[in-house]
Amino acid sequence: MMKADVKVVILGDVNVGKSSLLNRYTERRFRSADTTIGAAFSLRQWRQRTVSVWDTAGREQFHGLGSMYCRGAAAVILTYDVTNRQSLRELEERFLTLTDTAQPDCLFAVVGNKSDLTDDWVAIGETEREAPTPASPAPKVSKQVFKEDAISLYKQLLKYKMLNEKDFPVAEAMCFETSAKTGYNVDLLFETIFELVVAGIVKNPGKPSNTVDLKHSMDSKPNKSSCCT
Ligand code: GDP
Repeated sequence: MMKADVKVVILGDVNVGKSSLLNRYTERRFRSADTTIGAAFSLRQWRQRTVSVWDTAGREQFHGLGSMYCRGAAAVILTYDVTNRQSLRELEERFLTLTDTAQPDCLFAVVGNKSDLTDDWVAIGETEREAPTPASPAPKVSKQVFKEDAISLYKQLLKYKMLNEKDFPVAEAMCFETSAKTGYNVDLLFETIFELVVAGIVKNPGKPSNTVDLKHSMDSKPNKSSCCT
């Protein structure tokens, strides 16, 4: 039986780029059309620990499963699209309650994807090992969500969870703007989270296990599951 030590979940509305972010990180590439049905997960070794990252479908019909995806999660990545104001609102209105089944001290990241599409996009700070995909010059659109909006959502969610801001990383460190298309900030996002969740286990070795039984979870999935290490 495969066991993962730590569970990380990606949540957000359909089309914000959740699968693309995970693909970019695990496969180092961007695939343009591949709608996620059900959930896919990926396994990653990080400092002798196995982290499972779960990609959830944002579709309404899977909402009943949403809280199941989050069960026992040590971190939740709340994803929106920087060109779509509504996708940020959805996080607050529909997705936040799904995280009630996560661990009580669950970490949160708020991620604005599709940064490459906006008119203020400059790929400064590109730190990816892989070169950006050749730019097929997509028409630029105005940015609808700014980092300050994400930061205020982050602060609000700590309040909603009744978590003390002082016990958590500062909002600025947990709000990312990414591009799954070019790879911008994608490694930084996942690796920041992995460091924090793994450090959390090492710091609290006596904590009840948050082990995820992947075999059982896979059996109960409606459709696609993938596993990459
Ligand atoms: P999901 O439903 O949240 O998993 O979203 P997908 O990963 O399936 O992506 C939805 C659509 O947005 C697809 O057509 C992707 O090619 C596109 N997409 C995802 N991430 C990016 C990005 O960073 N930049 C751009 N330009 N398009 C993206």
